[in-house]
Amino acid sequence: MELLKNAYPGLKSTYETPHICGKCMEHIGADWSFCPECGTPTGLTAEDVRQYQTSSSGKPINVVPCVPGDTVYDRRGQEWQITASELLLVNGRPKWIFRCGHTGTEDYCALYENEILSAEQAKAALEAANVGQ
Ligand SMILES: [Zn+2]
Repeated sequence: MELLKNAYPGLKSTYETPHICGKCMEHIGADWSFCPECGTPTGLTAEDVRQYQTSSSGKPINVVPCVPGDTVYDRRGQEWQITASELLLVNGRPKWIFRCGHTGTEDYCALYENEILSAEQAKAALEAANVGQ
């Protein structure tokens, strides 16, 4: 019988398990939805996974959250188009800043990654502003 090279069925694979199940203390992977031991939902979100990827050293940090052409919203709920992204060091930590504009205008703003609102958050911000008027 010939050697079946590199045919090991994968049981050797290891996982990054930065979390611990509060119920059974089993280790939980960065993006697992359920505890493999007791089945408790972890409640981890895509945002948690992204934070883990961007905060842990030695990982492929700085997964860019938005790319040029994306539509984003500032804290007042205004819509912007990203024209460029840049990685800056802020207090020793890498942080994305996005240059934004409106197509066909001279409008300009720069938003840090933590200043960008989702479409839903922007809608809420706009509604809050309208109520205040
Ligand atoms: Zn568990």
